Amino acid sequence: MSFASLKLIPELLRAVSDEGYIDPTPIQIKAIPPILGRRDVMGCAQTGTGKTAGFTLPLLQLLAPQANTSSSPARHPIRALILAPTRELAAQVAESVRVYGKHLALRSTIVYGGVDIVPQKQALHGGVEILIATPGRLLDHLEQRTVNLSRVEILVLDEADRMLDMGFLPDITRILAVLPKERQSLLFSATFSEEIRRLAKELLRHPTLIEVAPRNAPADLVTHEVYEVPATRKRALLCHLIRVRDVKQALVFVRMKRDANRLARELQRDGINATAIHSDRSQGEREQALADFKENRATVLVATDIAARGLDIEQLPYVVNYELPYTPEDYVHRIGRTGRAGMPGQAISLVAGDEIKLLAAIEKLLKRSIPKLDVPSGFTPEHAYDRSRRRDEPAPRGASPRTGDADSRPPRSPRHGERERENRPSHGRSSAKLPDFDFTKPYVPAPSSTPKEVPDDLTLPFRGRPKRPTAALLGGTPGPRKSHK
Ligand code: AMP
Repeated sequence: MSFASLKLIPELLRAVSDEGYIDPTPIQIKAIPPILGRRDVMGCAQTGTGKTAGFTLPLLQLLAPQANTSSSPARHPIRALILAPTRELAAQVAESVRVYGKHLALRSTIVYGGVDIVPQKQALHGGVEILIATPGRLLDHLEQRTVNLSRVEILVLDEADRMLDMGFLPDITRILAVLPKERQSLLFSATFSEEIRRLAKELLRHPTLIEVAPRNAPADLVTHEVYEVPATRKRALLCHLIRVRDVKQALVFVRMKRDANRLARELQRDGINATAIHSDRSQGEREQALADFKENRATVLVATDIAARGLDIEQLPYVVNYELPYTPEDYVHRIGRTGRAGMPGQAISLVAGDEIKLLAAIEKLLKRSIPKLDVPSGFTPEHAYDRSRRRDEPAPRGASPRTGDADSRPPRSPRHGERERENRPSHGRSSAKLPDFDFTKPYVPAPSSTPKEVPDDLTLPFRGRPKRPTAALLGGTPGPRKSHK
């Protein structure tokens, strides 16, 4: 199956070929024809499957007849609205629109919170056919009457599950109320909860259902592993794994912003280049952290769930759950950061005693158990001495989130005036203070330590243990794949 056989117009065929794409991915094969046929679509697809091109290409084609180079804003009404939960995802979608639409005279712009609204007003004032937005900032524009959505023909909700998780349902409902009733709607979600189905029922008319991965299953080609390790030994084990496995790039998840900062700082002290990304950092800091990671200046990017949403890092080999997420669906989202576009990936979870219940919920969602690897002897509970816990460190946490940290809050609806919380970073640095250190750290690896220097009993668990690809974990094996870009 080629892109040409999907009946894409020459301008789009040129754009995909410029990108080096040879064949459409399964989601593109399934999504492009019904979208071109002006059907509503409900797509279950994770990031990494090529879903952005799956909706962007046909959307551009549907708008192409109206493309024009007139300088009059009136000739460029907003015809397509794409809503995304985070600015990172919105930015990536906007980039796809730009790249795939570069041979068409269609205009697009992006609006999201946390940055000056004035340039966004100016861009909207000039007229654009395609608007990519996060819900909170779009509502600000609606309230200030700086955006007109009365001519929208196509609505896309990308990562709808995440939007609901982030409490955007009231905002979405308000936005839907000002859109024309006659329109085409597309809803994409990595997971299909009951809540999503309800939203889909309200939003979509006789939708074409598209699924490209088993429901609620993480990307195949990802090897999943669990180490059961006390919370106090996690960092030492992480350092150890990074060294013995010669990890060049790992995205490490924690639940709270302050823990992201702290872990990144501590890893730095352990001699591992690390940086952090979370919603309290400014847009510039987030972009810098991501650039450092993508360009291999940082081995570890410590992230919270919200901040990591939509990150597109090609060939990311490792995702580490330093702490398991409170909702099992977030495990699927996290793991969606690796094993993308046909590249193999590894998902390592460090699970403390108080997280066993969370692990059970994840395994229930995946309908598979995740292999537990033997923990190297220096990291087992009997070897862990609590001397290593710093004075400011709480006792191992229970499964209820602490308050006061937006990245870790359970889902809730934002109250009036709080819309920007998810999108707008607070200025200045995180309120987390430098901890009061007890310098008897649990594990201080020698800077020169290499895999060879690690005692055998530490390396054994990683050798000769067959890694089971997720496809096998999920009851199948992946077919031959084309290596994507
Ligand atoms: P997405 O799932 O939209 O985040 O896309 C994941 C990655 O796949 C992006 O880096 C795209 O550039 C890439 N991609 C999308 N479609 C194709 C294709 N047909 N062939 C190769 N790579 C693709």
